[in-house]
Amino acid sequence: MKNIDWANLPFGYYKTNYNVRCYYRDGKWGEIEVSSSEHINIHMAATALHYGQEAFEGLKVFRGKDNKIRIFRWEENAKRMQNSARGIMMQPPPSELFFEMLKKVVLLNEEFVPPAGLGAALYVRPLLIGSGPQVGVKPAEEYLFLMFAGPVGPYFKEGFNPVDIQIIRDYDRAAPRGTGHIKVGGNYAASLVSSERAHKEGFATVLYLDACEKKYIDEAGPANFFAIKDNTYITPKSNSILPSITNLSLRELAADMGLKVEQRKVAVSELGDFEEVGACGTAAVISPIKRIVERETGQEFTYCPDGKPGPVSTKLYQRLKGIQEGETEDKFNWNTIL
Ligand SMILES: *Cc1c(COP(=O)(O)O)cnc(C)c1O
Repeated sequence: MKNIDWANLPFGYYKTNYNVRCYYRDGKWGEIEVSSSEHINIHMAATALHYGQEAFEGLKVFRGKDNKIRIFRWEENAKRMQNSARGIMMQPPPSELFFEMLKKVVLLNEEFVPPAGLGAALYVRPLLIGSGPQVGVKPAEEYLFLMFAGPVGPYFKEGFNPVDIQIIRDYDRAAPRGTGHIKVGGNYAASLVSSERAHKEGFATVLYLDACEKKYIDEAGPANFFAIKDNTYITPKSNSILPSITNLSLRELAADMGLKVEQRKVAVSELGDFEEVGACGTAAVISPIKRIVERETGQEFTYCPDGKPGPVSTKLYQRLKGIQEGETEDKFNWNTIL
């Protein structure tokens, strides 16, 4: 293993030894190529650059105390990437290809899989882009599917810590029948102005509302939203939310722990009733929320009266982390051991 200060790594890009690539050309996927270059060479008229034919994924790989390497729920990432590809008319990479490339990129960079117990992981970023040229608005005929990987530290250096977030009404992230439900770069482009403003104003992220009525909660920037109330796990249902695999896993764990699970429209007016609220995603698993501020009116909702994450969020967090790190029984068979 590399000599790296694993516990203090940020969540960011880290140069490693190799990445893997595969091209779709002439109607078929080619051989998997291994590269040590951090650059790609694509046509200047590639549809990814002009018309946003771009989708990505993010998943984590953990080393357990038993030294085994575990990949968390990669089949779900493969399925979601296929769905994203279909949503913007790209060639979907088959799950077998997804796994072959994933295995290769992890094993080639094995020395960058952090040791157990530090909260660090190897983050894998699959990327699919239209690499073939078009000037008229049309899907490309050639696609590049690549994966790179790098070690990332625990999302919160101080541990599992509550954050402040902001509700805004002057920007939308995704349209009701647009591309919010797929993991494409365009959604992130649309969120940059409002999310950078939120950071400047002291918030971890923006909580976006449904673009149509501005009455219901969609999601929190790059993470889904959930709330706990009366032994119930509540999370919004909307066409413009990206279906988070962390959220899916938390719903399954919540049900297993005896909570009721509701996936339904969640009105902003309910925020005052919740006992615990949080954002969830691969990067942090759960970011407990301690304060939600309506930017327009200044209205505030506060949680975590003792400054600490709530008991249900904490239990869910520990159970999911435990499974990922090989410390808790993997009852649902979520891990693939390499
Ligand atoms: C990736 C992503 C999430 C989190 O999904 P996970 O599968 O849990 O990592 C949530 N919202 C958006 C918009 C995303 O792109």
